[in-house]
Amino acid sequence: MIPTKKIVMVPGPVPVSPSILQALGSETRAHTDPVFVADFQALLGDLRDMLHCDGIAFLVAGSGTMGMEMAVVNIASQKDRILLCSNGHFGDRYESICERRGYRMDVVKAEWGKSVTVEEVDAQLAKGGYSILIMTHVETSTGAMIQLKEIAEMVKKKYPEVLFLVDGVAAAGGAEADMRWGIDLYLTCTQKALGSVPGMMVLWANKRALEKRESMGQIPESYVDFARWIPVMVDTKQYWGTPAVNNIMALKEAMHIIKEEGYEARCKRHAEDAAMLAEAMEAIGFKVACEKPFRASTLSVFLYPQDMPVDDAAFRAAVAEEGGLIAGCLGAFAGKGFRMGHMANLDKHMLVAMAAAVERGALRCGMKVEPGAALAVVQKKLALRA
Ligand SMILES: *Cc1c(COP(=O)(O)O)cnc(C)c1O
Repeated sequence: MIPTKKIVMVPGPVPVSPSILQALGSETRAHTDPVFVADFQALLGDLRDMLHCDGIAFLVAGSGTMGMEMAVVNIASQKDRILLCSNGHFGDRYESICERRGYRMDVVKAEWGKSVTVEEVDAQLAKGGYSILIMTHVETSTGAMIQLKEIAEMVKKKYPEVLFLVDGVAAAGGAEADMRWGIDLYLTCTQKALGSVPGMMVLWANKRALEKRESMGQIPESYVDFARWIPVMVDTKQYWGTPAVNNIMALKEAMHIIKEEGYEARCKRHAEDAAMLAEAMEAIGFKVACEKPFRASTLSVFLYPQDMPVDDAAFRAAVAEEGGLIAGCLGAFAGKGFRMGHMANLDKHMLVAMAAAVERGALRCGMKVEPGAALAVVQKKLALRA
């Protein structure tokens, strides 16, 4: 039999559009080539505009994890006190990054599948002494999304001395963020909701964050020091480390797609896809792990039905053979369900194929699901969409 093409349904990397891959495969220009220099500069402007950033969007080779480290080391010194709110695995990763640097830090953790709330952040900050707040916009291990706007506005109003740093890796370009709400630093990488290939991170820092960096003098880090990269990001003719030329060309095309669709329309589409896929998976007995008010628009964790036990590894292998690469769960959810990314540039064919692959995988594993039940939801919803 002809092997079924596998659709990448993990929470990053995501399926990459052909025009983006074409840009990636274009001739490698010198980073000093005026055409590249201008494209790079324009791309940085587009990135800043997307989040209404009044400072700098740093675009540097390295994964999202490097972005997490880059963000915190440029604004936190031993004098600072950090409040870290973790909703799961990636929040805990931020904790370990901060621990390495020996920062003074308090950690508030949500139960898996829930989120730290505005009220909880407020209550903790009210204890006083904090200068930095770190949160994860979309927690990729649980599918929980924080109430970003409400939290940012609350912090800006009540705790103006606190810099708000947000890990937006599984969110940026799919779930709405606006730095004017009161976000000082926001970061992502290219292989998630922006829709490009892995390889780079984007870190937005507003004027306040840049002023904080300046006030700190020299920091121990070199490669990820804002001071090294600011001259390059202000004037892309400058050199510090060779930019990932082809990756930047690919991201330029990814941003072109985002601009064409419109940022707001894109965020709305993500929310609709998330609700549709949740309903589809529920129609064949899966349970959304995350509570309703906290459900992310870019990815979901679906738990196996309690009355239909299924072997986790065998199930995911069956879905993969049916053409959908889903991810296993982490931490408290490990073995109990699967993670599905639904972000970036998914067209109707892909959404149908994703639901269908899960359905066939479930059938192959002997789960008592009604063939076509998940698909029926997707078909009905998609047909209603203009
Ligand atoms: C994927 C992810 C990261 C890590 O990004 P890498 O590119 O894999 O280093 C960090 N935070 C969140 C929320 C993520 O989803």
